[in-house]
Amino acid sequence: MPTRTAVKRTATSRRINRATRAPISTDGSDADKTQKWVYLFSHGSADMRDLLGGKGAGIAEMMRIGLPVPPGFTITTEACQEYFARGQKFPRGMWEQITEALRTVERSSGRRFGSANRPLLVSVRSGAKISMPGMMDTVLNIGLNRDTLQGFIEMTDNPRLGWDAYRRLIQMFGRIVLDIPAENFESCLTEWKERKHYKSDTDLTVEDLQGIVEEFKRIIRAGRDLEFPEDPPTQLRMAITAVFDSWFGRRAVEYRRAQKISDELGTAVTVQLMVFGNTGGESATGVAFTRNPSTGENKVFGEYLVNAQGEDVVAGSRTPKPMDGMKKELPKTYAQFMKVCAKLEKHYRDMQDLEFTVEDGKLWMLQTRSGKRTAQAAVTIAVDMVGERLISRREAVLRIKPEQIDQLLHARFDEATKEKARAEGRFIGRGLNASPGAAVGEAVFDADTAATRGAQGEAVVLVRPETSPDDVHGMLKAKGILTQHGGATSHAAVVARGLGLPCVAGCESIHVDAAQKQFTTGRQSVNEGDTISLDGATGEVFLGALDMVRPAFEEQKELQQLLKWADDLRVLGVWANADYPRDAERARRYGAEGIGLCRTEHMFFEEERLPIVQRMILAKTDDERNAALKQLLPFQRGDFEGIFRAMDGLPVIIRLIDPPLHEFLPKYSELLMHVARLQMELSLERVSPTDPDRFKRLLNRLGERQKMLEAVESMREQNPMLGLRGCRLALMMPGLTKMQVRAILEAAANVAKKGVKVQPEIMIPLVGHVNELMRERAELEQVAQDVMKEKKARIKYKIGAMIELPRAAVVADQIAAKADFFSFGTNDLTQTVCGFSRDDAEAKFLLRYIEEGIWPVNPFQTLDREGVGQFMRICVEKGRAANAQLEIGICGEHGGDPSSIEFCHELGLDYVSCSPFRVPVARLAAAHAAIGSESNSN
Ligand code: PEP
Ligand code: MG
Repeated sequence: MPTRTAVKRTATSRRINRATRAPISTDGSDADKTQKWVYLFSHGSADMRDLLGGKGAGIAEMMRIGLPVPPGFTITTEACQEYFARGQKFPRGMWEQITEALRTVERSSGRRFGSANRPLLVSVRSGAKISMPGMMDTVLNIGLNRDTLQGFIEMTDNPRLGWDAYRRLIQMFGRIVLDIPAENFESCLTEWKERKHYKSDTDLTVEDLQGIVEEFKRIIRAGRDLEFPEDPPTQLRMAITAVFDSWFGRRAVEYRRAQKISDELGTAVTVQLMVFGNTGGESATGVAFTRNPSTGENKVFGEYLVNAQGEDVVAGSRTPKPMDGMKKELPKTYAQFMKVCAKLEKHYRDMQDLEFTVEDGKLWMLQTRSGKRTAQAAVTIAVDMVGERLISRREAVLRIKPEQIDQLLHARFDEATKEKARAEGRFIGRGLNASPGAAVGEAVFDADTAATRGAQGEAVVLVRPETSPDDVHGMLKAKGILTQHGGATSHAAVVARGLGLPCVAGCESIHVDAAQKQFTTGRQSVNEGDTISLDGATGEVFLGALDMVRPAFEEQKELQQLLKWADDLRVLGVWANADYPRDAERARRYGAEGIGLCRTEHMFFEEERLPIVQRMILAKTDDERNAALKQLLPFQRGDFEGIFRAMDGLPVIIRLIDPPLHEFLPKYSELLMHVARLQMELSLERVSPTDPDRFKRLLNRLGERQKMLEAVESMREQNPMLGLRGCRLALMMPGLTKMQVRAILEAAANVAKKGVKVQPEIMIPLVGHVNELMRERAELEQVAQDVMKEKKARIKYKIGAMIELPRAAVVADQIAAKADFFSFGTNDLTQTVCGFSRDDAEAKFLLRYIEEGIWPVNPFQTLDREGVGQFMRICVEKGRAANAQLEIGICGEHGGDPSSIEFCHELGLDYVSCSPFRVPVARLAAAHAAIGSESNSN
């Protein structure tokens, strides 16, 4: 096995070698025959995927179960690894084993490789363990040269077929093995056809093909300074070398980086007897899925072409026909193929993606693999297969990735509309698919405009070079976000995902000029007010409005079914974070079993409430403050009544106020500028007065702003995240939280009287010392008692602590003794354990850290198990030891992340709480975690 550095070094030398490549010697002289590098198809099976690659294992398995497969063999992935370890030399003994395998294929087919009498022709194809775009694909017809061509023509009695096969070999070999640009061959072919006034390749005669063969050989000579190798073994050696080398092709390497696939796996190579789909009207080639890969419908879905080779389908030179047509055109083969489809599905118990060729009425299977499918198809197929008793419910649940659920719940564009837009040249560019969903709206270039126009019910898409916390108010009201810069963990991406908003980030092909309110692409400019469409699932951006399909959760019967099975399997509860009744309703529809976090301060930001909140903060006397609190009480009570009603019978955790109070006041820097401007205007007015009333107005305004500035100044902190917030605020200014608890209990009593079942849980944020909790708890319990007495009601409620500080986690036994529940606020816990603030880290260095592998993933998205996770573990152990009844959950953003959910399961938490949009994802992820830990312990 090459080391990582060795692989890198050989990759570089490969590039050098590729430019100057000459036929490569095989170094087989002192062969070590002990290692098996080559497996006949008849000696392989599906479970040898690591060694034979996906393609090799699939073919071997088809042969094993008696399907018609042309004979051949697979060179192993280990051989590829060894090839690089030896500095791009074939492993010892490999060539001898290839020759031996070829002899076996010759015996079973009655042909001879390199012989003018009944020549054997083979295809050479790559096949890694994981199917990978960017690898060398296929070279067909290896083994043909001037001599064997004559034998082939005699054998098939078809000179045109022979010359066309020879032409294709030289073309593919030139393009794929020798790296000559495809256009060189294609333009030669096009010119030829134009000269002869032919419409298609099929018009080419034998004489034409003979001429083209000479032209193609000339192209190779000019491009690579070598002759096309006429020697069949040399052709084979060079093709195998090209497959190995393509493992380090640029696109293949990029794909592996993106998919986190190891460089060390290597690719296998399959060598297989050629069968021909272009021998006449009884021959065909095609690709098919055993079920529809877009919708999941249980019907074979595919395309075929009569009298053609596979590359004709790919090249688009002829339009293939839908599979149904084969029923009439080749009825016997169609019936046989349907049987093969059924057999393969039953065998693999999964939808298969197949390649086949029909040669003179005989069906040959060339490939089978698990078919790629949309999220919708994945769910439909899994549920249907349970009904067909092919798989168990547990398998069905495991077959869907939690992230696929996300795609099903967001609006999407109709595919046909997208195609049309592309054809009309309305495709603008592609960025990162940062947050799924489809958005249509008028482009706006600043957050204020987005906020104002969005609030008026207009559909707007916020377009920014990148976003920052200052843009959030605009993002909240936009239909979608488009940024020129930034990656998957950029501010725009993170916030959009949290809000369930479609987002395309880092669309570098556009240039955003926010000052000019426009963005430009190479060809066009898009101005404020122009309608654009964003596809957050693919990262595509279009001009104009595309039609949308919005799948309602309730209407997705199969998804509902799958999630019910997941619910039966999971141990973790799934709750939701919801601040408003409408969010709580959605959460419940999506299957939430409680509210794990209701952030009460969001309610304070609403237009009619903010001035009252500000009056409360700026109050100079208790009376003034109490008057403001009294005004706020009915608003809060109303909000809580709505949430209790929506969650009737389920627990609702309401967190008391958390952020530092200055967040409810104007920004210090803006106030400072405003004051300076007013002072300047006043001095101008003094020097050259215009209007005495204006002078008075300015003076009053200045006085008012200065007062506000003083208040804000007095509240300024060096590190607000670590300052006067959370329970500290409640202890310094108790009136506010007392009002909140009164609102909670009054709301509970009011709705309970109307028959709604309530389970309020009052959560105290940022507890660090048990005394903080004890003190606040005592004060709040008194309020609760008072309200219950006034209302003559008995409400069962809980009081608990949010665990957001490392200290709280390590003294969890003390805190648990005084708390009914814990909830991990992992957003803050991550900040305080790691010692960086999220806003600063994501804006300044975290993205680079992740790119450079300093942090493996963003710890604000996926729980840092080694650091933050250890504090959680200590906390759970100590907390439960001190209080066996303690309910423990998580309400940070990690509560909706599958990997973090798995960790929460491992820790034995009672529930995870996440955004309502993520509830179905979390239900499935929790089931996966339960199944995973069960199978680990077996
Ligand atoms: C947390 O810290 O994880 C949390 C949920 O609180 P917030 O994000 O409101 O600080
Ligand atoms: Mg917090």
